[in-house]
Amino acid sequence: MNALTPNAAAIPAPVGLLAELTHRCPLRCPYCSNPLDLDRRSRELDTATWQRVLTEAAGLGVLHVHLSGGEPTARNDIVEITETCAKLGLYSNLITSGVGGALSKLQALYDVGLDHVQLSVQGVDAANAEKIGGLKNAQPQKMEFAAKVTELGLPLTLNSVIHRGNIHEVEGFIDLAVKLGAKRLEVAHTQYYGWAYVNRAALMPNKAQVDQSIRIVEAARERLKGQLVIDLVVPDYYAKYPKACAGGWGRKLINVTPQGKVLPCHAAETISHLEFWHVTEHSLGDIWANAPAFTAYRGTDWMQEPCRSCDRREKDWGGCRCQALALAGDAAATDPACSLSPLHAKVRALAVEEAAETPPDYTYRTIGANIPAPRKEDALS
Ligand code: SF4
Ligand code: SF4
Repeated sequence: MNALTPNAAAIPAPVGLLAELTHRCPLRCPYCSNPLDLDRRSRELDTATWQRVLTEAAGLGVLHVHLSGGEPTARNDIVEITETCAKLGLYSNLITSGVGGALSKLQALYDVGLDHVQLSVQGVDAANAEKIGGLKNAQPQKMEFAAKVTELGLPLTLNSVIHRGNIHEVEGFIDLAVKLGAKRLEVAHTQYYGWAYVNRAALMPNKAQVDQSIRIVEAARERLKGQLVIDLVVPDYYAKYPKACAGGWGRKLINVTPQGKVLPCHAAETISHLEFWHVTEHSLGDIWANAPAFTAYRGTDWMQEPCRSCDRREKDWGGCRCQALALAGDAAATDPACSLSPLHAKVRALAVEEAAETPPDYTYRTIGANIPAPRKEDALS
């Protein structure tokens, strides 16, 4: 394995590690941000390798570990991995669907020092939630799981991914978060990567629905000050400026996939010309400092106009590289979600058009499904 090189000294330390422990999941959400080509169980890293990765992450300065997937509790060693985080002083956040084996492992996770739980909720109405998640009887399991989290005294965040199938339930998500004793609610409009990109026409809300959801959140923030924090992620296609993807490429986040590829963001594998290094061949420090996938879009030198001379270039770092590739056909282009992009008007028109059409059926997330990658001709350039 290569040693960390001197180049690392000039690069800021990563803050968070997104540990995608497995792609296995009992749910099949059509907006899932996992790649279309999901890793099978036989390719997953073993316990010792994850423990070594966590140790290297702590050494690099990482503070938070998001134990994610897929469904992380599908792994038999989730308790050991969580215990390793605690021993290393890493703040552990379990990102879970709350179904399958999640409830049966929760007490043990708490006992070894789990710090926080983020529970996904697909809908408020059980039938609607289960249609979106593609799993019957999931909602009661989630409610039981949430009750146990708060009974243990663990801080609970609810994560609701918003789209045209549940945008009428935003008020309901807020009420549900209060009822379950959550400290935080994420009202996260769908980001169109991975399975969400394939399902974009089925998921895209219209502008009036988006505006209404923002008004509901703003009113609830006032009403619930001191009781519930509500994070709002607005949909890129209707935004004025893009978000800083992962806090800026190669600046804050390291994402390790189930098989051990290391990515600057969870969707980065869609940029197929990038070279991703693997934790079994390089140390995490070497990857963070030197892997071609991390250096490709770190900083601002790679930027084209209008980003290159824009005074927001160190705020949003040009937006999302994966979205730039998907929509503009060039990963180094300005994210077309930005109103300053020459393609922005076309992107907005596309969203308006798709939201006005009858939604097609969901293409559910499935391991081994032969889903064609989004067509090149979808690019707007
Ligand atoms: S988005 Fe849905 S399918 Fe994807 S990992 Fe989360 S719960 Fe599972
Ligand atoms: S032009 Fe580039 S840097 Fe400026 S706001 Fe748009 S995406 Fe951000």
